[in-house]
Amino acid sequence: MSEPKPQGFDTLQIHAGATPDPATGARQVPIYQTTAYVFRDAEHAAALFNLQEVGYIYSRLTNPTVAALAERICALEGGAGAVCCSSGHAAQIMALFPLMGPGRNIVASTRLYGGTVTQFSQTIKRFGWSCTFVDFEDHDALRAAIDDDTRAIFCESIANPGGYITDLDAISAIADEAGLPLIVDNTSASPYLCNPIKHGATLVVHSTTKYLTGNGTVTGGCIVDSGKFDWSASGKFPSLSEPEPAYHGLTFHEALGPMAFTFHSIAVGLRDLGMTMNPQGAHYTLMGIETLSLRMQKHVENAQKVAAWLEAHPAVEKVTYAGLPSSPYAERAKRICPRGAGALFTVALKGGYDACVKLVDSLELFSHVANLGDARSLIIHSASTTHRQLSPEQQEAAGAVPNVVRLSIGIEDADDIIADLEQALAKAAG
Ligand SMILES: *Cc1c(COP(=O)(O)O)cnc(C)c1O
Repeated sequence: MSEPKPQGFDTLQIHAGATPDPATGARQVPIYQTTAYVFRDAEHAAALFNLQEVGYIYSRLTNPTVAALAERICALEGGAGAVCCSSGHAAQIMALFPLMGPGRNIVASTRLYGGTVTQFSQTIKRFGWSCTFVDFEDHDALRAAIDDDTRAIFCESIANPGGYITDLDAISAIADEAGLPLIVDNTSASPYLCNPIKHGATLVVHSTTKYLTGNGTVTGGCIVDSGKFDWSASGKFPSLSEPEPAYHGLTFHEALGPMAFTFHSIAVGLRDLGMTMNPQGAHYTLMGIETLSLRMQKHVENAQKVAAWLEAHPAVEKVTYAGLPSSPYAERAKRICPRGAGALFTVALKGGYDACVKLVDSLELFSHVANLGDARSLIIHSASTTHRQLSPEQQEAAGAVPNVVRLSIGIEDADDIIADLEQALAKAAG
C-alpha cells in the first residue's frame, strides 16, 4: 500500500493533534481543567512513571489540552515531538536546559528579540551558562566563536525587530560542521511562512503569544524537536546520551530515540522547572491556530502595501522590510520564507528620535504596545522600550537605533492602516 498523501497546512492547522473527545464526542478540544489523572491501577501508575506507557500523571508535566496544541505545532513545523510551556522565554530556557551545564556556552546572532538579548547576556549567567553574540552574516566570525564548551547555535528566522532574514541553510551547515544543534526562534515567521527544520534546524522555539495565538490574549511557548540530531555522537550532551540521575538513571537517547529531547523536556524540564502552560491558555492558542494561514496571508499582503507606501513617503529615511525589492535580503526571503517576509519591520524617520515619539503618540488605529503578531496593528519605539536595557552598540546590532520605530502590521484594511500612518506622519513632521 502506498503512503497516504500528507495533509496540507490548512488541514493540519485545524485537525492535527485533535480527535473527537473519547469520553463525550466533543468536536472541539475540551479544556481539561484538571491537575491530576486517576491511575487505572498500581501497575498502570508504575508504567507511566517509567515512561513505558504514555499517559497523564499530573498537569505540571502533561495535560490533554496542552498536548493537543503541542502535537498541532509539531505537525505544522514538521517535527518529531514538541513540548508547550508558559511563554516564549520559558521555551528558550527549556530548549537549552537539556543541552547545557555550568561552564557551557551558546553562540547567538546579534539580531534577536530584546528580551532574548537580556536573557542570554545576563540571566543565564546565574546558571553558569554564557552566550557569545556574533553577526550571523559573518560566517568566519561564527565559526571562530564556537569552542569546545559550545552546546548550541541560536538565531531567529525572521529576526526581530524585523527586516532581517537569517540564512538558515548556511547557518545549519556551520552547526553541522561543528556537531552542534541549531535552535531557531521562529516566532516572527510562524510555521506558515517558514519551517526551520526544512533548512536544517534541530530545535524550533516559539513564543505562541504572538502569531500562533494571533489575538494578544495569552502568553505561551513551544519547543519543537526535529528528532534528527544524534545526541550520542559527541559525548557533549550527557543528559540525553548517558544515564540521567534526575530521572532514575534513564538513558533518554537510547530509550527514546528521536523522542529523547521531547521526553526529557517533559519528564525533567517541566517536572523540575515548572514552566508549564495551563490548559485555558492552550485553548486560546488552539483557537488562534485554526486561522493561522489565513491571517498570515493577510498580514503579509498588508505589510507589503504599507512598507511600499512608507518607503515612498518624504518623511521616511528607510524601511527595512525583506518583502521590498530594495531589501538586501529580498532574494534570501524567497528561499527561507517563500510565502512572505512576515509583517514586522522597522521604519527610520528623517526627523529622528523626536519624530518617532510624535508619530507613536499621534497614531489612532495603531496601538503603542510591547507586543507583536496581534491581529491589530502595533507600533513601538524599540530604543525607548523593548531595547532600552541594551547598550548603544547592542541597539545598533539589533537594528533598534533611536530614529527607528518597529511596526507589526495587523489584518485590518490596508487603506485604514495607511491613512492612520499618513495623518500621524504629518503631525510628526510638523
Ligand atoms: C515575544 C518574543 C519572545 C518572548 O516570548 P514571550 O512569550 O513574551 O515570553 C521571544 N522571541 C521572539 C522573537 C518574540 O517575539
